[in-house]
Amino acid sequence: MDKHVTIIGAGVIGLTLAKELAINGIDVEVYDSKKTASEGQAKASGILSITGLKSAGLPYKKSIINTLNGAVLHAGRETLKIRSSTAMAYVVDRGLLAESCMGIAKDAGATVTLGKRFSKDDVLRAAEDKGNILVGADGAVSTVASAFGFPSIDEYVLTYKAEYERANIDGKSAVNLFFSNEISNGFFGWAVPHSSQRIEIGLGISGRARANSYTAFKRFLGDGSLNYMLEGSRKVNGYASVIPLGCRKVTAKGNVLLVGDAAGQVKSTTGGGIIFGSLCAKVLARSITNNIKRGSPLSLYEREWRKKYGAELKLHSILHSYYSSLDTKSFEILFKLSKMFGTGEFLGKYGDMDRPSLMLKRFFLRGLAK
Ligand SMILES: Cc1cc2nc3c(=O)[nH]c(=O)nc-3n(C[C@H](O)[C@H](O)[C@H](O)COP(=O)(O)OP(=O)(O)OC[C@H]3O[C@@H](n4cnc5c(N)ncnc54)[C@H](O)[C@@H]3O)c2cc1C
Repeated sequence: MDKHVTIIGAGVIGLTLAKELAINGIDVEVYDSKKTASEGQAKASGILSITGLKSAGLPYKKSIINTLNGAVLHAGRETLKIRSSTAMAYVVDRGLLAESCMGIAKDAGATVTLGKRFSKDDVLRAAEDKGNILVGADGAVSTVASAFGFPSIDEYVLTYKAEYERANIDGKSAVNLFFSNEISNGFFGWAVPHSSQRIEIGLGISGRARANSYTAFKRFLGDGSLNYMLEGSRKVNGYASVIPLGCRKVTAKGNVLLVGDAAGQVKSTTGGGIIFGSLCAKVLARSITNNIKRGSPLSLYEREWRKKYGAELKLHSILHSYYSSLDTKSFEILFKLSKMFGTGEFLGKYGDMDRPSLMLKRFFLRGLAK
């Protein structure tokens, strides 16, 4: 009997995997509890580097709502500006991106069933049939991972984000990031312009802080940094969610595999999981195809994605551990020093949102060239 693949989760990552498998002629079905492709996607932001979008091959063009060429970092009384002469990232409408991914997966031949929630028993049953390969692409709180006893994720960030219209936005091409361990314990706050009048404000706090993300968000709004932007504006929505920080130690067990947020394939510095999740989905599609067509072991997936992206994700994790240990005073000093050494300009020119290793390489090469 031919093997088939069942994917739990029709987020961007599950759908990317489904598309890749269907293109390779693999029989693949995707299930999700949500009723439409876009449902739930607005809980997350959509800042995606242009280089990352291209390398991941995502169908992003119809979902672009803004273009970013810089960031302003805030801590206490200090700011650090990072500006590039070219576009660095897009803000995408996550609902539209998911719809495009679903359209492409279905066109390629994948079957997508919405409105079907898998319980622990359902996923255990789905993997009993050894002709079935089961993939958990079911997000940060993965039922597949817990049903099969995969190692847990070390840390989660709790988030709250809301959109405001009629906001006062001075420039719509830069994102503002706010670092304050008193308010955004272990993470940061953000203000992302969607247009010249609409802005997204959000905040993440480490789950270890044992605090409520909405309460922290209200403190963030109350501390005055956002007064000017939000004066006279109207809140149009608000969502709480969660981001996994740090990869699971195991992502493949027999015929059960994890990908995307379910595997923790997320940049710990920013919580961004779309680019690395999609790249890992491509690696998984190759491993499954090679297993079905050539009999190679599925465990190669684990080896391959860690070889390609593990070191980069680890570097994100180290950088996150470093910045989350700083108090506001230390951030202020860091920003002052960065200005003295021209780090803002350097990051604008050579910064890479996804691959800090490239940036460090360029930094040391620049030092050697001097
Ligand atoms: C506030 C916030 C801001 C973010 N900003 C960015 C950003 O700017 N850039 C970026 O790259 N990333 C960002 N992320 C991270 C990004 O959203 C995730 O990495 C990405 O959504 C992961 O995709 P996924 O397909 O793995 O999981 P998800 O998008 O979570 O999809 C999982 C799917 O599985 C389904 N599901 C779950 N359990 C079951 C079940 N038992 N049965 C059936 N279906 C199930 C869910 O309904 C869902 O549709 C942000 C996240 C948050 C919370």
